[in-house]
Amino acid sequence: MLLTANDPKRKTWLETSVNTDFPIQNIPFGVFLTRDDIITIGTRIGDFAIDLGALHQLGYFEGIELTDDIFMQDSLNDFIADGRKTWRLVRDRISEIFLEGNNQLKDNKEHRDVVLFTLDEIEMQLPVDIGDYTDFYASKEHATNVGTLFRDPENALLPNWLRIPIGYHGRSSSIIPSGTPIHRPYGQTKPSDNGIPRFGPSKLVDFELEMAFITTDANHIGHRVPINEAEDYIFGLVLFNDWSARDIQAWEYVPLGPFLGKSFASTISPWIVTLDALEPFRTNGPVQDPEPLPYLQQEANKNFDIKLQVAIQPENDEETVVANSNFKYMYWSMAQQLTHHTVNGCNVRSGDMMGSGTISGPTKDSYGSMLELSWRGQNPVPLKNGKERKFIQDNDTVIMRAYSEKDGLRIGFGECNGKILPALD
Ligand code: MN
Repeated sequence: MLLTANDPKRKTWLETSVNTDFPIQNIPFGVFLTRDDIITIGTRIGDFAIDLGALHQLGYFEGIELTDDIFMQDSLNDFIADGRKTWRLVRDRISEIFLEGNNQLKDNKEHRDVVLFTLDEIEMQLPVDIGDYTDFYASKEHATNVGTLFRDPENALLPNWLRIPIGYHGRSSSIIPSGTPIHRPYGQTKPSDNGIPRFGPSKLVDFELEMAFITTDANHIGHRVPINEAEDYIFGLVLFNDWSARDIQAWEYVPLGPFLGKSFASTISPWIVTLDALEPFRTNGPVQDPEPLPYLQQEANKNFDIKLQVAIQPENDEETVVANSNFKYMYWSMAQQLTHHTVNGCNVRSGDMMGSGTISGPTKDSYGSMLELSWRGQNPVPLKNGKERKFIQDNDTVIMRAYSEKDGLRIGFGECNGKILPALD
């Protein structure tokens, strides 16, 4: 199926800046609260938020099979459940409505007034009601770094890592949209010399630079998703900061894995960029050696070239970029993760979210966490204001950005921001 919305020659009649993350070729999906306090599903072109509920009411989606209220909802779950064919028809139609030369909406001020919003008139919400959230551990560099730091540099990768996309089941209730501040979490941390663990605010709050994909209904319980179909069930991606309290994590994670050191909060960027919009940026992933078992074997170009950046901004101060990475470094692809997730018959539903795991690259400036960037605090990371950071301090804002760029076409995710407030009393 031709993705007409992806045509790089397309221009919109809306005014957009050259370097926007949201050209007419992006057309992401999100949920926002309007100036009239109405919640709606929308998209974004340049710095305009577009009310899809209003567009639908005004008849702009005529000919596409959609229920009347599909966009007048507080989550994208039902729309995502409609499946890939519908997502594509809707995205292509949105592209047509805002295409240069199409004056239907452009010349109708009454319609424009109810459809278009500037960004200061809206408040982004969580785009999906996340049923289940799974976090993988799919960057070889990250797994190697963590294995080196916490266990044994000689055997940094455990024997299963090269065979299985390792993951754990996370907590969905505490996934929050960009811009929502969180308090430093409390917890139990490693025993000191007297063998008694300490209880108090975490001293080692960290970010994890991740992407996450959001699925549609993929399989019935007992059935599995074949690898060559897996991408059909991926709606799109968001930037994902999987906040981590390293001191809590280090004490609790044996033998059942991450728990309260992770579940206090995770932040996502609010616009879901569709897998379709990222199609032009497909690329090869790392060579997989040993060859994965047949059920995980996927053809070439299974990764996506998405540039990733993390900055730390102390309060009332300028930000410092502390890491530049890329989604293409992922050893295990999204399709391999989803296939593996269902191979035992576990059903995946519309609105489920799968985190990639921290995305670290091969160089020291491409590591996706402070744990790695500061090498567990041994090499503090310098900030522009002359100070330094081993981990995240109170009132620091962590800003993540992501975009793909090729032949003059840029598709981005906007920002994923979160501020760490002091621990509550
Ligand atoms: Mn994680």
